[in-house]
Amino acid sequence: MRIWKLLGMALICLSLLAGCGSSGEESQKKDAPAAQTAQVEMAVPKNGVPVLMYHMIGVDPDDPHNQACLTEENFRKQMKFLKDNDFHPITMEQLYEYMVHNKPVPVRPVVLTFDDGYPDTYSIVMPVMKEYGFACTVFIPTYDADHGTRLTWQQIKEMKAAGMEIASHGYHHERLNQMGGTTLDTEMQKSQAELKEQLGITNEFFCYPYGGNSPEAEKVMKKYGIKLAFTMNPGWAKYGDNPYAVKRIWIGNEVDIDNFRQRITTEKYEQR
Ligand SMILES: [Zn+2]
Repeated sequence: MRIWKLLGMALICLSLLAGCGSSGEESQKKDAPAAQTAQVEMAVPKNGVPVLMYHMIGVDPDDPHNQACLTEENFRKQMKFLKDNDFHPITMEQLYEYMVHNKPVPVRPVVLTFDDGYPDTYSIVMPVMKEYGFACTVFIPTYDADHGTRLTWQQIKEMKAAGMEIASHGYHHERLNQMGGTTLDTEMQKSQAELKEQLGITNEFFCYPYGGNSPEAEKVMKKYGIKLAFTMNPGWAKYGDNPYAVKRIWIGNEVDIDNFRQRITTEKYEQR
């Protein structure tokens, strides 16, 4: 009997020692992602990833019939649809790794993007993202922050702290494909500098105001360390596509839940 007790104690000691082999911090880092990915199946998307493009959510105070503005009810229905049907909103970094390196991402991936930095991205979108634990990206024209009709830097900081990715939508929200030389360079330089100053980030993602890109704008993107730049050209984002002209799927208020389902399951969706 005694020998078994001793052997048992020796085994316990050995296993404790093995556990101490890595520091607590290290094993936490290893455990956290493993626990998450264990539940989510990963795969390289065969047909690409739909990058959904949202603007204002709620009611447009200037134009109640603005089709680019999605009602809160429709927005909530769409997010619930994603959750109920096991879609996985992925991060910009995951999209980049797939588009450029063909890396696997969670199955049934979508990317959620919100343009322009409207106050409802803070008041309506943020609570929903928190509720569902969804990743998303907000493209802000940095000059507009703290200028009245758009988000404040304080709100943007709170959104970042809540896990929403903040990225650039230019400085003045002007068409980059109609700029050149120092004007174009300054536009980008100021936007990057302000994101660094306000949020402490080295921004890597960009959305062209009004969607328009140009070879010169793409060069400036590369100069300022941008890894993916988004247009408003329709289609899914695929491995091997130009990372400086990423396509997106329009979501406006004319998109009902059946049309939404089409937009996230096929590129051949019914136009509205
Ligand atoms: Zn815009």
